[in-house]
Amino acid sequence: MSGLIMGGREIAAAIKAEVAREIAVLKNEGVVPGLAAVQVGENPASQIYIRNKVQACSELGLYSEKIELPAHSSTAQLVALVNELNARREIDGILVQLPLPPTADAKQVLFAVDPAKDVDGFHPLNAGNLMTGRPGMVPCTPAGIIEILERSRIPTRGARAVVIGRSDTVGKPVAMLLLHRHATVTICHSQTRELAAIAREADILVAAIGRPAFVTADFIKDGATVIDVGINRLTSPDEVRAVFREPSGPLERLAAKGSVLVGDVQPEDMKEKAGAYTPVPGGVGLLTVAMLMVNTVRAARRRAHSGRTLAE
Ligand code: NAP
Repeated sequence: MSGLIMGGREIAAAIKAEVAREIAVLKNEGVVPGLAAVQVGENPASQIYIRNKVQACSELGLYSEKIELPAHSSTAQLVALVNELNARREIDGILVQLPLPPTADAKQVLFAVDPAKDVDGFHPLNAGNLMTGRPGMVPCTPAGIIEILERSRIPTRGARAVVIGRSDTVGKPVAMLLLHRHATVTICHSQTRELAAIAREADILVAAIGRPAFVTADFIKDGATVIDVGINRLTSPDEVRAVFREPSGPLERLAAKGSVLVGDVQPEDMKEKAGAYTPVPGGVGLLTVAMLMVNTVRAARRRAHSGRTLAE
């Protein structure tokens, strides 16, 4: 059996086309949505993520600013920058790329962001809104996962959903969104016993772990929908051979590009056992960027129509 690929590219393109239409309406009203992306230090993965986000802004006609600060920046310096951005009217969304270096307290920095400009949805006010089912900014990756499920017509009502990973940014919010869509949700983590057996009960299995190919065939019920959130970079032939059963293609990619991306789910097992799945690359990651655009435009629309942000 070979499962249906839920293509992030097509779904992200459809969402971006919808966003582009909303941007055109806002521009007619004299509003250009603006995003500030803050990068601290030189984490190569963060650089790629920010580049993709800024590129999506320019494709869609959003105003964007990339602000780079040195790795040794203090919490106070970052909070001061966030406060400046909170006050600027042309900035609707503020994105502080994680992880921050150890010199900065990520929670303090993220909590300084005006909740109305919190396009990553990490502020406790937005986390509380999500928990209680109120409107607010929903974190981009979890929101993107829901878009993939809905647009692929995967039913959630009454489904058994298992989320492996309990981070504030992915695992917990996606579990909450699935719960609001009437799934019966189990959240697993590093201390969970009988993990494979629990995962095997899932109609919808979400893997947000950060370990290459951790989820194998014994975790996947035949025909389940599998959402692979993980983005892991393999950089040596040994790592590639340890992950892929048929490593020749990936080894060629490694030789050509210097690294190979793999998710948290063993890709060949996922393809064989899942009824539908998101590939890595080309799956959830593309939706994260698309949903950032959605959130930024939403923030701009709110500013245009209410004339104020939550902080004012
Ligand atoms: P994280 O904050 O490191 O959280 C990882 C979670 O996995 C933790 O809850 C951890 O459990 C759990 N875990 C670790 N080892 C485990 C094990 N052996 N068994 C069961 N659970 C285990 O990571 P994250 O930020 O949620 O990201 C997860 C993955 O998604 C990463 O690969 C990341 O790069 C990727 N990601 C992708 C996107 C995208 O756009 N596609 C966006 C964000 C993240 P404990 O809580 O017990 O430690």
